[in-house]
Amino acid sequence: MDRFVGLKKAIMLSIIGLLLFLIGYSIFLVISPHIELKGNDKIEVVVGTKYLEKGYSATYGNSNLNNLVKVKGEVDANKIGEYKIEYKVNYNGITKKIFRTVVVKDSERPTITLKGSSDTTVCPNTTYQEEGYQAIDNYDGDITTKVKVTNEKDQVIYTVQDAAKNDSIKIRNLKTDTEKPIITLKGFKNVTIGVNQNYVEAGYEVADNCDKNIHSKVKTIGFVNNKKEGIYHITYQAVDEAGNKNEVTRVVRVVNSKEKGLGKVIYLTFDDGPSRSITPKLLDVLKEENVKATFFVINHAKELDYLIKREYEEGHTVALHSYSHNYKKIYSSKEAYLDDLYNIQNKVYQIIGYKPTIIRFPGGVSNTVSRRYSKGLMTTLAKEVENQGFRYFDWNITSKDAEGGKASATKIYNNVVKNLNYSSNIVLMHDFENNNGVIEGVRKIIQYGKSHGYTFASITESTPDYHHKINN
Ligand code: ZN
Repeated sequence: MDRFVGLKKAIMLSIIGLLLFLIGYSIFLVISPHIELKGNDKIEVVVGTKYLEKGYSATYGNSNLNNLVKVKGEVDANKIGEYKIEYKVNYNGITKKIFRTVVVKDSERPTITLKGSSDTTVCPNTTYQEEGYQAIDNYDGDITTKVKVTNEKDQVIYTVQDAAKNDSIKIRNLKTDTEKPIITLKGFKNVTIGVNQNYVEAGYEVADNCDKNIHSKVKTIGFVNNKKEGIYHITYQAVDEAGNKNEVTRVVRVVNSKEKGLGKVIYLTFDDGPSRSITPKLLDVLKEENVKATFFVINHAKELDYLIKREYEEGHTVALHSYSHNYKKIYSSKEAYLDDLYNIQNKVYQIIGYKPTIIRFPGGVSNTVSRRYSKGLMTTLAKEVENQGFRYFDWNITSKDAEGGKASATKIYNNVVKNLNYSSNIVLMHDFENNNGVIEGVRKIIQYGKSHGYTFASITESTPDYHHKINN
């Protein structure tokens, strides 16, 4: 009985307790403020970007309590981590708190950069030598040391993972050598000589991306029978170590020496002028004979400007030789050479209002003097001047007018005519001070040429290149 009454009492008390709690809670709800977040309560932010706070809204009934809200906690968007922000409002003695979690994380992949090419040629009998790489992560910085390199047969695979486990992969393809050797003919591609005249082989240059011994592998096929008229082909053939083959052919025509007008051209060229004593007389001879020539000029006294003008106005080609003509200076470096070249170009431009682009290296491209001052310079310059829009010309006949002081007209004449061939003849002469032999020598050469079917021409943009072999 007692126990039953006790139980009934306990139930009654519980119900009353519950009722009291419900009433209390209802009152609490009615008098407590309300706060809620704008935007999500969990936000992810990429490290290094900006965290944008979306705000909150706190109310009591219809009234806005936003200005009573206290925010605690800050987000450093430049630092990976989980940040908690607390929003707290107190009203009617009641405090309400809510939270937002902001996760700053690194979701960006690192970047792998390859040094060298992503398609690398592996030369025969060599193994690939790592050319290098770098891995940079937006958050971790330089993680190059974490890169894993796997060498496959025809690929190198680079992988890396940053601290946030973002992966990157990069592939370098390894190719076998498929590049042909490059053969460049020296001298003219088409040569014409007279019967019984000596054929002089001008040679070639050869280069290969891989094969360092390519020079010894060139085969020259064909021959010239200078006793017999005909067309002869000389083929220069090269096969590199990987089996890539290339060939170039020179056509040599042997013609009856009495035959005329077979493109027999003489280019008279004069270096190192103008000069007071020679150039005016030389121009007179050329005028009388109605022959155009080419002048590779150097710097000169102001009062000789009129000679450059005269050369130009009388239809000759004004071309560039050098400003200083000082080998030691111009062949000390690429920059020094170009500086000197542009100086003479500018000087000529001031006189005739035209910038010549036809040039001749002092000593020719074949000169060995430049070795003394800068190794390999001529190889560099030959390419560089062409890159900069110039064309250079060497010679295939020298008058030897400058050898041993000065030569007589007869000597100059003999040196030239005995070497004339039946295609193109670029004759080296000089119109520097007191080189007297050249004046009458030139007249005799012109008269010989005219009576033997030659034409005379100045070097122009349409003249085929004539280059010596480079020796430095
Ligand atoms: Zn010179």
